[in-house]
Amino acid sequence: MTVLDAPIDVRADFPGLFDADGKPWHYLDTAATAQKPRQVIDVVTRALGTDYATVHRGVYSRSADMTLAYEAARRAVARFVGGEESEIVFVRGATEAINLVANSWGAANLKAGDRILLSTLEHHSNIVPWQLIAERVGAEIDVVPLTSDGRIDLDAMAAMITEQHKLVALAHVSNVLGSTLDARRAAGIAHNVGAKILIDGCQAVPRMAVDVKALDCDFYVFSGHKIYGPTGIGALWARGEILDAMPPWHGGGSMIDRVTFAKTTYAPAPTRFEAGTPAIVEAIGLAAAIDYVTAIGMDRIAAHEGALVKAARDILSGVNSVRLLGPDDSNGIVSFAMEGVHPHDIGTILDESGVAIRAGHHCAQPLMEALGVPATARASFGIYSDESDIAALARGMERVRKIFAND
Ligand code: PMP
Repeated sequence: MTVLDAPIDVRADFPGLFDADGKPWHYLDTAATAQKPRQVIDVVTRALGTDYATVHRGVYSRSADMTLAYEAARRAVARFVGGEESEIVFVRGATEAINLVANSWGAANLKAGDRILLSTLEHHSNIVPWQLIAERVGAEIDVVPLTSDGRIDLDAMAAMITEQHKLVALAHVSNVLGSTLDARRAAGIAHNVGAKILIDGCQAVPRMAVDVKALDCDFYVFSGHKIYGPTGIGALWARGEILDAMPPWHGGGSMIDRVTFAKTTYAPAPTRFEAGTPAIVEAIGLAAAIDYVTAIGMDRIAAHEGALVKAARDILSGVNSVRLLGPDDSNGIVSFAMEGVHPHDIGTILDESGVAIRAGHHCAQPLMEALGVPATARASFGIYSDESDIAALARGMERVRKIFAND
């Protein structure tokens, strides 16, 4: 069986895809976090070792070089998402980016009576920060429902949005259903009533080309570890004029212009939002990861994962009592439920067959409630996933079926 016409053959670059004895491991949990290629590991090792020094302060040449590398990483992120260097804030990840927007832009711009629009399928990190700020300022949250195949229902969004809505925050790709948002249309609907829109790009950026200017959004966030880079680093892109007007949220070193006990003034954006010694090594590692996926090509990656999703859905739909969740064209992610079998049992049996999937609520409890399940089993793919993973998933699911003899 050939599921891939033009496979991307990079498995050998990823030490994490082999166990201690060198045996292949079928890692189908890339939506949680991606394995790292040697190219990223080597750059991180060098940055932590022979190249290591602080940034922005040192007068010695090692520090000046490190500053250049850190700022080059910012340029790499900006180029990758189609923004300007001055519009990129390094953060710990998408969670921190959303908290930053909620606490800086949200605290300055939201007031009692304003409304925030989210969707049923949001990750908790795109729900809870908004609940916290809404509670603080007296704003309310509304929720856009999903279509029957698991997409954010933009017709419903257009019908329910009002001029009271000041902020819309939606996932570009669902981490559970893999459904892809028409982010440009969503931005148009938000802007029509004067609302700002934040797009959570955590699951999109590793799987498709993203251009924030073409999407016409106001904020775009993602995490480095899901795009083959290190943990502890991610990015917030914010439209220049919005970021320039946002107040600081964390205080400390580096983010200031001048400090006196009488009055402190702040550095311009994006420095104003990066208090303290930044995640220097991690930012440089993220740039290496961006170089890595860019060399392969985002369109090739999208086609590769699309073929894998199709093969996985074909196999799973052949297992009686499996309910596939999400649309047929789900983006790199396949969630499913099996009647009478808890997803944790599916995960455990697959693990015994050397296949790692995720089972649980995937930090999307409101979505679980809407789907009427306590949890789902989720297989998710990356650039290194291939036919051997699909075959191992098929073998593992056959074992699950036999053990539970559901058909
Ligand atoms: N949003 C989505 C859609 C995600 O999949 C995740 C991670 N599972 C997050 C936000 C949060 O990302 P992080 O934990 O890296 O901050």
